[in-house]
Amino acid sequence: MPLVSTKEMFAKAYNGGYAVGAFNVNNMEIVQGITEAAGELKSPVILQVSKGARAYANHTYLVKLVEAAVIENPEIPIALHLDHGDTFELCKSCIDGGFTSVMIDASSKPFDENIALTRKVVEYAHDHGVVVEAELGTLAGVEDEVSVEHGHESYTRPEEVEEFVSRTGCDSLAIAIGTSHGAYKFKASQCTRNADGILVPPPLRFDVLKECIKRLPGFPIVLHGSSSVPQEFVKMVNQYGGNMPDAIGIPEDQLREAAKLAVCKINIDSDIRLAMTGNIRKYFAEHPDHFDPRQYLKPARQAVKDMVAHKIVHVLGSDGKA
Ligand SMILES: [Zn+2]
Repeated sequence: MPLVSTKEMFAKAYNGGYAVGAFNVNNMEIVQGITEAAGELKSPVILQVSKGARAYANHTYLVKLVEAAVIENPEIPIALHLDHGDTFELCKSCIDGGFTSVMIDASSKPFDENIALTRKVVEYAHDHGVVVEAELGTLAGVEDEVSVEHGHESYTRPEEVEEFVSRTGCDSLAIAIGTSHGAYKFKASQCTRNADGILVPPPLRFDVLKECIKRLPGFPIVLHGSSSVPQEFVKMVNQYGGNMPDAIGIPEDQLREAAKLAVCKINIDSDIRLAMTGNIRKYFAEHPDHFDPRQYLKPARQAVKDMVAHKIVHVLGSDGKA
């Protein structure tokens, strides 16, 4: 099947009590690792491209890599999504350039300005058969060009969501309930420590999520910043020369709980980076004489595939839903 929009994916996910993974792509190995896992598990999948990824790899290269994945995995629905579009022009360029879904993130602007810009993108996108994700509320953390200091995040205000969705016409809504961008999602002062000395983050605000769901029945909700920062990868990075103290993410059981509710799209980026970096560091340490990039990118790609397969089965619940 050709690239699809997320419309049908989300309707099925909403009714089926699971979520579709949205994984960030920057190069061939990442595209392959994600889609091989989704293909084998018969799972729908969203490949998303940030402004930074587009600047790094070039729009055409990324679109063609995703098109190749579509040809190689004809049995699963794959959507190509712009992550954190910050201007109408960027969204338009992706809509014109083959994306099936875009995000306009005007969440840092005042409410009415967020609505106006989102509405403008929605009108153009819908005229071209493309769906739009918008955002209300602010996540902490760093992701490419989006950076919000800890303490400056704000939870989504449920009393605003109905007006926002009806005035913008957006197709899905990213909300802030305590997830966070990057591999350092929380300051140590926000957390407790478990017996192993690993930070335990504050729980997600399910009360905010449930209040949003009540006000938007049947409407797909999106969670950004939802990597779990698996400690096996952090350990691997640190064991083989890295230095990532106190890197932590969102516990997977909480994401699984959200996926059973109206959360239809869960964004995962940092876990891909960690899987690759941990395994490449390990490879370099164990094979200091090797210098062929294929030698160390192969286990890195396999690690992405294994990690994504784990998410599909144990976090998203989207296996067999293609
Ligand atoms: Zn994000």
